[in-house]
Amino acid sequence: MAHVVDVADATDSGGSDGLSGAEAQRRLAADGRNELPEARRPGWLSRLAAQLREPLSLLLVAAAALSLLVLREMTEGLAILVIVVLDAVVGAVQAHRADDAMAALRELTAPLASVVRDGRPQTIAAADVVVGDHALVAAGDRVPADVRVTDAASLASDEAILTGESIPVDKSVGDVLLAGTLVVRGHGGGHVVATGARTQLGAIATFLTEAPEPPLARELRRIGSWMATGAVALGVVVVAVAVVRGDGGRDSLLDGLLGGVALAVAAIPEGLPAAMTASLALGAQRMARHGAIVRTLTAIEALGSTTVLCVDKTGTLTTGQLEVDDAIPAERTSAAEAELWLAILRCNDATDGGVDPIDVALLRAAEARGHTPMLGRRVSEEPFEATTRLMATVHEFADARVLSVKGAPEAVWARCADGPQLRRLDGLARGLAQAGRRVLAVASAATDDLSARELQPLGLVAFLDPLRPSARAAVDACRRAGIRIVVATGDHPETAAAIARDAGLDPDPTVIGSELRDLDPDERQALLAEAAVIARVEPADKVALVVAHRAAGHVVAMTGDGVNDAPALRHADVGIAVAGAAGTDVAREAADIVVTTGDLGVLVEAVREGRRIYRNVVSLVSYLLAGNLSEIMVVLGGVLLLQDLPVPLRPVHLLWINLITDGLPALALGVDWSRRDGLELPRREPGTHLLDLARLRLLAGRALAVAAAALGAGALAAQMGWSPGRVQSQLVVTLVLTHLVLAYVSRSERFAFERDWWRNRALAASVFGSAAMQVVVMTVPALGGWLDLAALPVAGWAMAVGASVLVVCVIDAVRAVRRRRVR
Ligand code: ADP
Ligand code: MG
Repeated sequence: MAHVVDVADATDSGGSDGLSGAEAQRRLAADGRNELPEARRPGWLSRLAAQLREPLSLLLVAAAALSLLVLREMTEGLAILVIVVLDAVVGAVQAHRADDAMAALRELTAPLASVVRDGRPQTIAAADVVVGDHALVAAGDRVPADVRVTDAASLASDEAILTGESIPVDKSVGDVLLAGTLVVRGHGGGHVVATGARTQLGAIATFLTEAPEPPLARELRRIGSWMATGAVALGVVVVAVAVVRGDGGRDSLLDGLLGGVALAVAAIPEGLPAAMTASLALGAQRMARHGAIVRTLTAIEALGSTTVLCVDKTGTLTTGQLEVDDAIPAERTSAAEAELWLAILRCNDATDGGVDPIDVALLRAAEARGHTPMLGRRVSEEPFEATTRLMATVHEFADARVLSVKGAPEAVWARCADGPQLRRLDGLARGLAQAGRRVLAVASAATDDLSARELQPLGLVAFLDPLRPSARAAVDACRRAGIRIVVATGDHPETAAAIARDAGLDPDPTVIGSELRDLDPDERQALLAEAAVIARVEPADKVALVVAHRAAGHVVAMTGDGVNDAPALRHADVGIAVAGAAGTDVAREAADIVVTTGDLGVLVEAVREGRRIYRNVVSLVSYLLAGNLSEIMVVLGGVLLLQDLPVPLRPVHLLWINLITDGLPALALGVDWSRRDGLELPRREPGTHLLDLARLRLLAGRALAVAAAALGAGALAAQMGWSPGRVQSQLVVTLVLTHLVLAYVSRSERFAFERDWWRNRALAASVFGSAAMQVVVMTVPALGGWLDLAALPVAGWAMAVGASVLVVCVIDAVRAVRRRRVR
């Protein structure tokens, strides 16, 4: 600590006018960015190595070694090695792409800092803060660097990130606010004394934590390892069958081994996690273009399945651009009016650079009316808080000290002396609220006691906060999508109800926060679950609101921006932090999604995108898993049905099938497009999983259809007396074509080739491209020889095409029958 203070004393700063922009640039170049050194991103070689270290790759290398060294199958061994490397390259590209997308998203949520430069407060990237900057902080901010405090108003920070102890530590002039700690109370400013790795935080650098694996990916990995275990077990069975059936000699043992390896290759859905991450990450980039930045990829899925959307009134239904509409002094004299405005200006942070929309609007209105601040010196203050709903200041003048208070009428009245004047003002306030105005009351007293009562009411100010132009359409879209909107606001119930009605929402029942506190838990839960508007809400009520809806089985999304909103954002399935002037770092860090504006239209757009992405993930997972399952079935079924074959499919065949059917079509499904409005797409119902029993059954059914088609074609070929090599080729071609058609089955709802099926150009290109590649390797003898594939006669191709047509017809017919039965 002493070290920091020394630096501070040695540091020349620009005083509270801050540095000049040019000087800041120079220091930035000299000292480097205000960042902790980040873990380096892996290069291509180490990425490739990581792919090759996967158990599957090792298994395949072992298979290649088996072919090369024991079986002396040179081409097959080499082909396996080539495909393993190709697979690793594809995997590395996908991993890189997903990483890129995530890095781009992180860039968008990079922290900001307020500093004074060239005499003006401004918001810059926290990474650009330099030593000597005059930094401004307020409750809710993450401290951008080590800052020696030069002015403080009830300033306190939580240093848990450094000490592990989460208690507010008071910070007064001369103390050092440490980088990475959280300002939990008050506001202030000071000089930056250390940045980046030279901060106390940098010295211990425990800051960087790896993002946990998303639950969806975990679920897939579980399924993957489950399938792999099953495959190894079945592989042992295959080996045993081969040994029993064969002459017990060396060849039959090796064939059996080969079959076992083939099964393992078939079973492991190795492309799945990467394809899914890429799909989510690319979808997240699309959402970012709409103004919604995703912090965790799983939030996309949760967002798409949202059933209750709890939103702020201010800034979400309304523009949040407050404008003073009316000012009503306690008496109709110009002296009373002047007194009202002077109190408003004293009790205002915008006069020294604050950004609270209320204070900014008040300052603007005062200036327009020709009232200028005659301030005296502010000696103490009580900052505005959502729980007290008022702000108070004490100013010192030559001959007196004056307390000024502004805030929600009932909060201010509670501290005023009762009288006819107060009752008249209260009646007026009610009327203004009913007309949708936000109302503020102002009072003062000649005292320096911040908590003094018996104040004198000075008057009212009414603000107009116009409805957002997009609000009605967004409310309507939510209704169609089956999403319930609940408005939670700190504002007056009448104001909130009027605005809600204006936006097309039924504000009944409107509940007041204080009503909730007297109820027993069950009653409170019931009231919260049915409330359409909750007014005069406190942060704890927001948490209770989320809990109540979640207990009723809903998926809850909640918006918030304030210091106290963090717990509610954390409790919600999808916490949505609203950035912008009022946005705080605490809220952003607690949120899953950060939106650039709270505009309900943007939120609805994000839900719409979330549903699209979820649908794409479902179809790509369905496509890949059904494919893997069908390969297992073909290998197993082939052992039983096609007894003339040494193994139904060689490892190199399965590798080839995986290479051309899994990679590109899966990626194309991940960025699929649908003609339907995203909000009309089915959502994941609360409580269900991506891979629940019903879906697994569905996929097993489809896999069975594909496997039956391939085995049927193979059996026909065997019956016609084709050579084992040709029968295997028939199996491969049929499997590839039917699996590719499954891509269209997986993405569709009613019929594989339903209207607009060709609109996903990437999918069409990859499906037809893969089919063409299959034709090429079958017709160019050199390639075919390499992959152990023999040319097929026309009858063979006809069987393969016929089989895939049959599969589509059967699956679509089953779907049609099911639909009818459900109806
Ligand atoms: P919202 O949920 O609509 O953003 P807030 O919690 O910001 O509501 O405000 C609640 C009430 O507190 C407002 O209706 C107003 O009466 C009062 N209020 C808001 N901002 C200030 C402020 N800067 N100073 C004094 N009172 C305020
Ligand atoms: Mg607010």
